Amino acid sequence: VGDSKDFDEEVKSVCPFCGVGCQVSVKVKDGKVRNVEGINGPANEGRLCVKGRFGFDYIHHPHRLTKPLIRRSDAPEKGLNVDPNNPWTHFREATWEEAMEKAAHGLGDLRSYYGGTSVAGFGSAKCTNEEAYLFQKFIRQGFGHNNVDHCTRLCHASSVAALMENVGSGAVTASFNEIENADLAIVIGANPTENHPVTATYFKQFTKRGGELIILDPRGTAMKRHAKHMLQFRPGTDVALLNAIMNVIVEEKLYDRQYIEGFTEGFFEFRDHIRAFTPERMSELCGIDAETIKTVARSYAGAQRAMIFWGMGVSQHIHGTDNSRCLISLALLCGQVGRSGTGLHPLRGQNNVQGASDAGLIPQVMPDYQPVTDGEVRELFKHIWRGTEIQAAPGLTVVEIMDRVYRGEIKGMYILGENPAMSDPDVEHARKALAQLDHLVVQDIFLTETANYADVILPASALPEKTGTVTNTNRQVQMVRKAVNPPGEAREDWQIIVDLARRIGLDWDYDDPREIFDEMKMSMRSLHHITWKRLETESAVTYPCSGPDDPGQAVVFGDGFPRRAGRAKFTPARVTPPAEMPDDSFPMILTTGRQLEHWHTGSMTRRASVLDAMEPEANCSLHPSTLRKLGVEPGGHVRLTTRRGSVEVMARADRAVAPDMVFLPFAYVEAAANILTNPALDPFGKIPEFKFSAVRVEKAGAA
Ligand code: SF4
Repeated sequence: VGDSKDFDEEVKSVCPFCGVGCQVSVKVKDGKVRNVEGINGPANEGRLCVKGRFGFDYIHHPHRLTKPLIRRSDAPEKGLNVDPNNPWTHFREATWEEAMEKAAHGLGDLRSYYGGTSVAGFGSAKCTNEEAYLFQKFIRQGFGHNNVDHCTRLCHASSVAALMENVGSGAVTASFNEIENADLAIVIGANPTENHPVTATYFKQFTKRGGELIILDPRGTAMKRHAKHMLQFRPGTDVALLNAIMNVIVEEKLYDRQYIEGFTEGFFEFRDHIRAFTPERMSELCGIDAETIKTVARSYAGAQRAMIFWGMGVSQHIHGTDNSRCLISLALLCGQVGRSGTGLHPLRGQNNVQGASDAGLIPQVMPDYQPVTDGEVRELFKHIWRGTEIQAAPGLTVVEIMDRVYRGEIKGMYILGENPAMSDPDVEHARKALAQLDHLVVQDIFLTETANYADVILPASALPEKTGTVTNTNRQVQMVRKAVNPPGEAREDWQIIVDLARRIGLDWDYDDPREIFDEMKMSMRSLHHITWKRLETESAVTYPCSGPDDPGQAVVFGDGFPRRAGRAKFTPARVTPPAEMPDDSFPMILTTGRQLEHWHTGSMTRRASVLDAMEPEANCSLHPSTLRKLGVEPGGHVRLTTRRGSVEVMARADRAVAPDMVFLPFAYVEAAANILTNPALDPFGKIPEFKFSAVRVEKAGAA
């Protein structure tokens, strides 16, 4: 903290943590970041949460990788066994030249011996748009297939699948700031106070000026004290509850007939389907009384302007796509899309998961969600990528790739800024798979759990050490500006990808992120009228953007949808039980998620001194009555066991959690939540069911 005279430089950039995309002023002294303050970005208007304000010092942590590392020939067997303070029994330092040659030869040799499909890639939602674009191009052009994915598969892939199917676009229809113009908002399966804290401040302001907030969530959230209705429904019964709400709207003819006729298709089939889901029939299943369901339905249908926000409580189920289909249908029924103060908004998780998805870091689609199955799309990229044939078959997704690695069919991987050794469901399976790889190249800023299994580790850059663009949950493309140099010999990620591409034989000649951005614009209509120069000047432009002076459209689809005949679609959803129901051996429900202080697998926030001091220990939350039954005091330890494994963790008393549930954050390696989670996948979005596993909870140390 200090005056501007205390710093050598102040650099405008973007927070490196969540998808809200708060703009920050990074204050630098003697080549180090000393302070960060919120500035007037479109998403945050000067606000920051604790992570953005106090979480920046991870970039100066002594664990930063400063030189390339190569696995020693006499290293112990691969496993989660490397001490980041003393990795030298496993790795040795190398020059960039040696490390890059080893990385490239390892991948290139596998391509020569076994074919391109023996190598797959995971890119990163923490990197810039340009880096995401290059990464997917590296795999598609270098190895001739689409087996490239990133963490969207673990957060909102099912939401994107439903949005693409029914609305024709995978992004939000309105910025979250549009809540300022709404009368009513539904927040379902999201905990903005912890996970999108700056967004939560807008939600609270909305209720202060009289807006009606309705929360639907199996876990009570801090936001509930601002809500008019809090429906704490049984986990996994989202479709039953949402269909019951829509049943009321249909049966009482509260829907917007004119909107349905003008802008949608499939209503009559949908109406017939929804008739079976009466509130009286669904009430027992979802644990909400029929009258409350009716009240909420009438409120939503009666609002002039209403928005729906959702998070991973909706998406991370084997019926995650069906959950999102219901939310889309609900908005379409009442004509709550396309006007100011209305819309559909899946709150995106990582800082650049929207941008990485837009840039094509997804196995089914090229940049801008253009399907690989479309011959014209493949021709377009063949032209832009100087003759590269794009494979017509959609690629494998994150969990599918890990399965192929486990089965020995994929033998090499290039992993940039992802941590599947922590983030994959049934993570011991993923760890065994990683240990089997013939050649693993990891590019990261820390020796992550995944880097433990690497053959070559390439030291990369944190967001404040690079220049490029990122895109937040609001579709705002924002300029990231380099504030400090990477430590030691670490390099910007785009430079490493380009170097590796040249070494595997690709004819790449980028010298600057701006050149990559300009190439992206050749295939991405979403970037029309958004230029590097504009971003340098304006710092943020929202897509779609209609002209060089247009700041972009916060609300879209007022005059139709990017689908056949401009119509959105109703897709009926059936009730599907979770893949694994509680039974005598595993009688409770495990749900996992994030908490305010820690972000994702903890690699950054657990190395941020303030955040780690605030929340230093792995913990879970249980209802006080459950703790009493177990004979465990708050702060005592419990053992959680599922069919996949077991962890021991400190227990907190939390009335927000139902008595038959346990909530476990996934940022802690010492009690890795994903040792427990179920790898069952949603058939459309291919997202795992992180939000529901059958679990046994016991006092730690009990026989
Ligand atoms: Fe950063 Fe998200 Fe917090 Fe904003 S809300 S400061 S983007 S972590």
